Amino acid sequence: MSKLGDIILAFPDAPAPSDRITPHDCAECDDIARDLTDKTPRDIPGQVLQRRYDSLPLLSPAAWRYLLPAYLDYAASNPESELATMLIINLDCESSWGGEEAGTVPRCFLLSTTERAAVASCLAGFRSKWDEPEDAEQRDQIKDRVMKTQDCFRVSSDSKEEPNDV
Ligand SMILES: [Zn+2]
Repeated sequence: MSKLGDIILAFPDAPAPSDRITPHDCAECDDIARDLTDKTPRDIPGQVLQRRYDSLPLLSPAAWRYLLPAYLDYAASNPESELATMLIINLDCESSWGGEEAGTVPRCFLLSTTERAAVASCLAGFRSKWDEPEDAEQRDQIKDRVMKTQDCFRVSSDSKEEPNDV
């Protein structure tokens, strides 16, 4: 089974969002909603993902969780893409949703253990992208960020479940 298949399979239970997928009201969010509403992670065209490469932070928590596999999938297949770079940044575990509708919830806590493990595994794959740097300083920054985020997805999955020592 491909890694891509694993990613999608790790997210079988995320419900399709029932509310507007971009809670904010502005032209950009309208455009994002137009592109991504009623899409499943499997049927967003690559061109749409490319156009919406940086839209994850503007999605509602439910829409973020539901559509994340599409972004992970695209990034895993296209590690040199802008989408992959932005995904690494947007997965930062310290980013959270403020506001009444979401509460202040670190994004990684919205995911199940299986989902978090899939994200961590996907991030591990991205790290190879930075092994041959053109810009050593940028490489180190991004590697650092990937490792930190990867750890967060692992730690959060460990801390939320009953310990099952390895
Ligand atoms: Zn907006």
